[in-house]
Amino acid sequence: MDDTKMDYGTDVFNEGVMREYLAKDTVEKLLHTMRDHAPLDPAIANEVAHALKQWAMDRGATHFTHWFQPLTGSTAEKHDAFFEPTGVGQTLARFSGKNLIMGEPDASSFPSGGLRRTFEARGYTAWDVTSPAFIKRHANGATLCIPSLFCSYTGEALDKKTPLLRSMQALERAVRKLMACFGEPDGRVVCTLGPEQEYFLIDKSFWLKRPDLIQCGRTLFGAPPARHQQLEDHYFGSIKPRVLAFMEDVERELWRLGIPAKTRHNEVAPAQFELAPMFEELNLAIDHNMLTMETLRNVAERHGFICLLHEKPFAGVNGSGKHNNWSVAYNGKNLLDPGQDPQENAIFLAVLASVVRAVDLHADILRAATAGAGNDHRLGANEAPPSILSIFLGDELAEVVGRIERGARATGAHTAPLRIGIDTLPPLPRDTTDRNRTSPFAFTGNKFEFRAPGSSHNCASVCMTLNTIVAESMETLADAIAKLPKARFNEGLQKIIQAVFKDHGRVIFNGDGYSQAWVEEAERRGLPNLHTTPEALAPMLDPKNLALFEKAGVLRPTELESRHDVFMEEYERKVLIEGKTALEMARSLIEPAATAEFGVVCGAVAAAKQAGVGEGVDSVSDVARTLGRGLDALHRDCAALESALTQGPAAILAALGALRATVDKLEEDVDDARWPLPKYRDMLFVY
Ligand code: ADP
Ligand code: MG
Repeated sequence: MDDTKMDYGTDVFNEGVMREYLAKDTVEKLLHTMRDHAPLDPAIANEVAHALKQWAMDRGATHFTHWFQPLTGSTAEKHDAFFEPTGVGQTLARFSGKNLIMGEPDASSFPSGGLRRTFEARGYTAWDVTSPAFIKRHANGATLCIPSLFCSYTGEALDKKTPLLRSMQALERAVRKLMACFGEPDGRVVCTLGPEQEYFLIDKSFWLKRPDLIQCGRTLFGAPPARHQQLEDHYFGSIKPRVLAFMEDVERELWRLGIPAKTRHNEVAPAQFELAPMFEELNLAIDHNMLTMETLRNVAERHGFICLLHEKPFAGVNGSGKHNNWSVAYNGKNLLDPGQDPQENAIFLAVLASVVRAVDLHADILRAATAGAGNDHRLGANEAPPSILSIFLGDELAEVVGRIERGARATGAHTAPLRIGIDTLPPLPRDTTDRNRTSPFAFTGNKFEFRAPGSSHNCASVCMTLNTIVAESMETLADAIAKLPKARFNEGLQKIIQAVFKDHGRVIFNGDGYSQAWVEEAERRGLPNLHTTPEALAPMLDPKNLALFEKAGVLRPTELESRHDVFMEEYERKVLIEGKTALEMARSLIEPAATAEFGVVCGAVAAAKQAGVGEGVDSVSDVARTLGRGLDALHRDCAALESALTQGPAAILAALGALRATVDKLEEDVDDARWPLPKYRDMLFVY
């Protein structure tokens, strides 16, 4: 199949389209801005806007929008038609450079964590020239989307993209500085990301009968069925035709948007799947992941499915994550790819040491970036990477690091000290096939795979944090390396890297991350283990972290503090919605069903007695008593949840857990025909 048949990139304002619609000079200027992040020449804005409009209208678009990523975690858009009235009943299609560069959505209804109050009420969106414009299609038309930043008038970031771009600049500076220490020629730095997206699909008819799924995105009740994932027969299993038809539709839409959707497969839990794209430049990869999530949801509905992106839609089976495969390249060479020669190897080890130091030193703030009401049910549960951040290196690389760390004190051929430098080539593993699925942060041959982020998350927060902490480490290493006298460079470098592995090697763990033994071992090593969102977010207010982001030029203290407030508020609201939804469902759906059942069973007892039938009376009375106890417990649990609703998330979640246990027990006791909610065995297996 060639790319014309795949319609690949036909709805993207890509280089080919630019050359068709723009003068050669303008194309070069625009590409320079896109690739090298050079400032945009304002003189070309009108011409580019005109070309964009022409192209979009040729492709059926009637509207345009600045497309941005507010702190809500999703994307936002406000459409404007291309025309302006020129007289009564007459219009002219218009789209100016000013329309392209800046928009003014009413910012007052987006979360800002008090930033707008402190600074300025209005917000504006600004064209992110580094991500190409694209066309979104819907049943009756199409809209030109301009990827944008969202800021307050005083320049505070109100979105997720702005700090991401700032963090990429911080990392670029740090990489350049480090490379200069190794005498590498000045060059281009490219951060790369390949986000693997997990999701569930269920038939829409079930979803319509589950207020919890509609309101909260996860089931608040539901007893696990006898068979769930224990047969391990779903992972990589053959894909059912209805699901495959959906996947093919999704891919076709993504390809039109230039999104390189590459891999599709069944995941571990029943009804769970994964879509993995080929990696791209970081900022683009994140825009593309946001579009992928939206496309999954929209196409699912067209196929009579609902796509659940929640981190834990079903208790008792695996939740969904978004594995962030992250790396950084310099002059086209992946810096996390162990090299071919001693120079490349030395650089690889310096970069590796920077990442190890960053994750150890800043585990708290990296954990904060993965926090959220949904992910709390996943991190630390059995299948997900635990909330303790540790790094998996694989046996071979861990052995190399161990030998560097032990340095000259080691003896014997096998454990001979490893010398880094231009005169020696440490035997670095190439293309490791090690797979440790229990580590939250795993080296997978030429990239790090960060597995803690949740399936519904915008990975901008995580990548912004990763860039910032790694940049800080690289700067620190570069400062030390730059001081080395030329004649003793290798020896000095060896010492610096050795010291990093000595000081921060505690974060490296190659064993089973799910085991209780690791929890205890991690505690001995002094690694933080932050379980809930409020605990995990708290480090955002730590002076050391405020200083870290400020120094890197990524977030001012006010911006970071405001984000903490926004995420805490979001967490509290989500938990409150869950509490209220559960209470309403328990009282208006579960209690009536259980009461009716109780009535029927009690009626049977009375009827049997009246008819003088002795047999069965004891057993049916027993059923009645079980149901009665369930109803009593339900009544008490509902009252407890009701009062917990005013006591904050921890109390609500505890009360919700108790109520759930009662309801799930009743689900076993009430007549199947009377049970008001679709059951797990239907939702997870019937599609
Ligand atoms: P796995 O062996 O873990 O399945 P794959 O090679 O299939 O790994 O890659 C998983 C994801 O990692 C894909 O999205 C892939 O494009 C991405 N990836 C590969 N190399 C890099 C890199 N250098 N930087 C970022 N992501 C990468
Ligand atoms: Mg995976």
